[in-house]
Amino acid sequence: MAGILTYSDKTPLAMELITAAQVLARELNVPVKSLAINDEAMAQELSNKGAAVYQIDAGELHLADTAAVAGVIKDAAEQLDCEIVLLSSNRRGKEWAGRLAQKMGAGCLTDVSNLHVDSGKVGGERNALGGATIADQLIVTDKQVIAVTPKSYDLPADGTGSIEKLDIAVQPGRIKVIETAPKAGDTVDIEAADILVAVGQGLEDQEDIKIVEAIAESLGGEVACSKPLATDKKWFSEERIIGLSGKKCKPELAILMGISGQVQFTVGIRDARIIVAINNDENASIMGMADYALVADLKDVLPAMQKALG
Ligand SMILES: Cc1cc2nc3c(=O)[nH]c(=O)nc-3n(C[C@H](O)[C@H](O)[C@H](O)COP(=O)(O)OP(=O)(O)OC[C@H]3O[C@@H](n4cnc5c(N)ncnc54)[C@H](O)[C@@H]3O)c2cc1C
Repeated sequence: MAGILTYSDKTPLAMELITAAQVLARELNVPVKSLAINDEAMAQELSNKGAAVYQIDAGELHLADTAAVAGVIKDAAEQLDCEIVLLSSNRRGKEWAGRLAQKMGAGCLTDVSNLHVDSGKVGGERNALGGATIADQLIVTDKQVIAVTPKSYDLPADGTGSIEKLDIAVQPGRIKVIETAPKAGDTVDIEAADILVAVGQGLEDQEDIKIVEAIAESLGGEVACSKPLATDKKWFSEERIIGLSGKKCKPELAILMGISGQVQFTVGIRDARIIVAINNDENASIMGMADYALVADLKDVLPAMQKALG
């Protein structure tokens, strides 16, 4: 029976996809195959996790040419006899997913977690109604492209895999990539942080951001925010937004300061291992989902925390 193919251009995400694929492979009794495109180091790392890696060396392929990448993955899936393709549901992965599904004639789901098999078809959970509920959805076509929410799966255990070269001819898309440059400004990756100190509209004074940053630094974490602080007040870049329109984070510790806990925010942080909420309203809904809740004014808490953390 046809196998499952996984691909992400980010090594940690590529590893999570292997774990996700293994869950399905056990139920479907099919092999898992992983792509590494123009990345020898990634091929080696995935192989060290026991993966059967197929390495494509296509120097002329630019990852920003999403149509060309989708074409390469489609050809690889055909060569490797894979009808199910798992990608990561980050910005680029979602675009690849749509294009790939169209090329393969496959059903497609993005932002999926908790994958499972139902009557031989793959399904998974997705946020619905703005994150207020979870929909369990199933792809009914034979060919399936699924973009898996980052951090939904652990990294696979170490193992002994293999690396084989795969020869794929690149068909350039109609977009010509002329130049790439690192993103200007704030390029923090809050999804990768183990500790997040997130602030909301309860932070009244922009000057206090310095204290929040100092607290986050003392803890070895990153600063994140609710949407209004980035989009309305412009105090932070949109890279730092947690929630439906921002990032879905799964830190070990999330300290949420002056955030009310509306569902569009909580959907991005509810998987944190420990949630500490600080709010001057004991009835704020964030207090209901917190492991530790402190009813206090940020004006008092921030200097006290900074002092305590040295
Ligand atoms: C389609 C859509 C998508 C959205 N996506 C997102 C998203 O991705 N992320 C997101 O965050 N929001 C999103 N929102 C907005 C969301 O609905 C809320 O408006 C937003 O999360 C509220 O931000 P907040 O908690 O910082 O502010 P508020 O709701 O205003 O809460 C502020 C909190 O601070 C407390 N507070 C006030 N003063 C103090 C003080 N001095 N000390 C301590 N506590 C204090 C208050 O009691 C209150 O609980 C979205 C909305 C829509 C419609």
